[in-house]
Amino acid sequence: MAEETYLLEMVGIDKQFPGTHALDHVDFNLKKGEIHALIGQNGSGKSTLMNVLSGGLTMDSGHILRNGKPVRITSPTSALDNGIAMIHQELKLFPDLSVAENIFYGQFPQKMGFINWGKLYDMADEAIAMLSPDIRGRQKIRELSIAQQQLVEIVRALVKNTEVVIMDEPTASLTGEETLGLFKVIQRIRDSGVSIIFISHRLDEVLEISDRVTVLRDGVLIGTLERGQITGKDQLVDMMLSVKPAVLLEQEHKELGPVVLETRGLCLDKRLRDVSIQLHQGEVLGIAGLVGAGRTELLKTIFGAYTPEQGEILVRGKACHGLTPARAVKLGIAYLSEDRKGEGLLLKMSVEDNEIYACMERYSRLGILSVARRRKTVEEMRQKLRLKASGPGSLTGSLSGGNQQKVVIAKWLAAHSSIILMDEPTRGIDVGAKSEIYALVRSLAQEGRSIIFVSSELEEVQTVSDRILVMSKGAITKELPMNATVEEMMSYAV
Ligand code: ADP
Ligand code: MG
Repeated sequence: MAEETYLLEMVGIDKQFPGTHALDHVDFNLKKGEIHALIGQNGSGKSTLMNVLSGGLTMDSGHILRNGKPVRITSPTSALDNGIAMIHQELKLFPDLSVAENIFYGQFPQKMGFINWGKLYDMADEAIAMLSPDIRGRQKIRELSIAQQQLVEIVRALVKNTEVVIMDEPTASLTGEETLGLFKVIQRIRDSGVSIIFISHRLDEVLEISDRVTVLRDGVLIGTLERGQITGKDQLVDMMLSVKPAVLLEQEHKELGPVVLETRGLCLDKRLRDVSIQLHQGEVLGIAGLVGAGRTELLKTIFGAYTPEQGEILVRGKACHGLTPARAVKLGIAYLSEDRKGEGLLLKMSVEDNEIYACMERYSRLGILSVARRRKTVEEMRQKLRLKASGPGSLTGSLSGGNQQKVVIAKWLAAHSSIILMDEPTRGIDVGAKSEIYALVRSLAQEGRSIIFVSSELEEVQTVSDRILVMSKGAITKELPMNATVEEMMSYAV
């Protein structure tokens, strides 16, 4: 039997960005008339691969075949000439022009040297009618919903006789109902023989709509599966993640170490009411509660950013009066702000500078920073935290949320902090990076550090904590053991 010829084949696609190997010799192929999902965690290379295919980026090496013959795609226009159109996450329509003008931009019908508007609107209405009867060619783009604008982009691609439509996270800003509508459209297009590449991180959607699924991880192809080979979501999650959370998160019941941090009757106007807690060495103490329960205030008070009206804070048994953040740092206390961008990181500084920032003193002798010593520390951190950055000089702001969070943690580890206060450390981080952070928190505790872990996601508190305190309206309402259920936590949080 003759080998199957693919509509498109991408072979050995390699792409480096300064400091990141975004695509490591990736192979990807596409059949005519299929819906092919491309999945992977944030930063795994999905957009990069598709930008290469649609002419937005040039690859460093590799080649692309169309119906078995090599093609050169050097720009979005040359991609279109090869029947490939990409619909980006940020739609690229002209908001003040009509739907018709957007669809046929650059190819308006003419009559005696003038644009034939009547014909243009008719053509647009006819083209849209295939997909959505309730959009009119005369409407301005800005009058349409995001979902409708997306349809206009799809129609615009299809009128150019496109064979391949690439959609980058098309459902990210759609409602459930709009998503279903989009899926109907995608299936209709597929049935007319067009191929669709669909980037998504919502696995339910992927399972529902795809004929095949390709998984990337860290710029590497993990595999391509036929619909029939997929056993379920777990299988896809395993392929996407480099760390299996279940293995890493086995909590063991253990003897509590000595108390390293204690608060007695802390009061802070009405935001903290008589808060007394104890944190033991090697313990992850979870603090559950709703937004506004006083959790951030408690952490910031312990860190010396707020001065309590009443009560005291004891570090390793010694009362600390007039605590300031600078003194807290000297006592080995670290604070990971919930506002990572605003407080925790200097996004315009390099990864290395951020990590060293909290412990400048140790690396400077007679006021001169020891470059070799700080490089060594930074390299240790990178390995320990599995930080994905091109190098110590990368701008922190260019990293993914999960990696930025790791830089914050690295900063405090470099400062030899033994008591780490974490405020919503996984907010805005994707699922894979979250489980890496959980694993990291557990391993820090195993090393003997003590952690207070604040999160509004109760499952997460349950996952990482040895012991759980529930806060409500500025007061501790309950202490629960590590196997407490989310319902129990909830009942004391409200
Ligand atoms: P995904 O779409 O799967 O989230 P991307 O393709 O956007 O992943 O990114 C892959 C990797 O390449 C990431 O580490 C990202 O930080 C990096 N990257 C992407 N675009 C650029 C760019 N223009 N400059 C530098 N690095 C980039
Ligand atoms: Mg992307």
